[in-house]
Amino acid sequence: MTAHIIDGAALAKEKIIQLKQIVTELQSRGIQPGLATVQVGDDPASRIYVRNKVRACTEAGVTSVHHDLPGTSSESDVLQLLDQLNRDPKIHGIIVQLPVPRHLDARRMSQAIAVAKDVDGFNWQNLGALVEGAPGILPCTPRAAMVMLDGANIPIEGRHAVVVGRSNIVGKPVALLLIGRGATVTVCNSRTPDLGAITRLADILVVATGRAGLVTGSMVKPGAAVIDVGINRLPTGKIAGDVVYDEAKEIAGWITPVPGGVGPMTVAMLVENTVNAASH
Ligand code: NDP
Repeated sequence: MTAHIIDGAALAKEKIIQLKQIVTELQSRGIQPGLATVQVGDDPASRIYVRNKVRACTEAGVTSVHHDLPGTSSESDVLQLLDQLNRDPKIHGIIVQLPVPRHLDARRMSQAIAVAKDVDGFNWQNLGALVEGAPGILPCTPRAAMVMLDGANIPIEGRHAVVVGRSNIVGKPVALLLIGRGATVTVCNSRTPDLGAITRLADILVVATGRAGLVTGSMVKPGAAVIDVGINRLPTGKIAGDVVYDEAKEIAGWITPVPGGVGPMTVAMLVENTVNAASH
């Protein structure tokens, strides 16, 4: 059996079209949604991610203002800019593109963004709301994973979900969202012995490790839904996920490709969080 491919690029395109309609309505009420992106330093991958975010905003009719700060910027330079953006009524969402240079404290940057403009959902108040299942801004990649499961009509309640990776931006929040939807959730990390023994139990397998090819076909339960969050640049220059796609697609019931899976949907979720922030 070959898995159904969950086409993140197509789902993201549909989402952007829906958002454009909402933006048009907002504009008719005099509201122009705006996103501020902040990049510190010259990380080439970050530059591509920011460019994709700006492009998606443009497609949805959301204004985006990019702030490119030199890698030598001090913490107070960045905090000063964030303070200015927090107070700017034309800006409804703010993101600091990670990673930031080593001499800066990424955590302090995230916490300096006003809760209502924290469209990456990294502020502790929004993360706390996620833990409680209360309204708040949800982080984009975990939301993208859930929207893709829902878009493919994959049942979540009562299923065993295995999340590989426990980072604060992907693994932990996606596990919380799955718990909130009634899945039985196992979270694995780099110390998990015999990873395959656990992943083979997964009806839903979310992999977010940044290790190309970590999950092979034999580690996938037949018929499972596989959400591959990983983005890895191979020595050949090609982009690949954390799952061996060609093997896993012969065993899984559903699978997300890389590229063209969770990545574009994550960007669409950022635009949606910005539009929602402008609507309130
Ligand atoms: P982190 O490096 O913060 O976390 C990686 C996690 O994977 C850690 O919890 C680590 O465990 C775990 N891990 C590493 N090796 C293994 C292993 N051999 N077995 C089991 N677990 C392992 O990464 P992120 O969560 O930020 O990102 C993960 C991947 O997702 C990256 O490829 C990143 O580029 C991609 N990404 C994609 C996005 C998208 O839009 N599609 C958005 C964000 C990230 P431990 O904690 O024990 O070290």
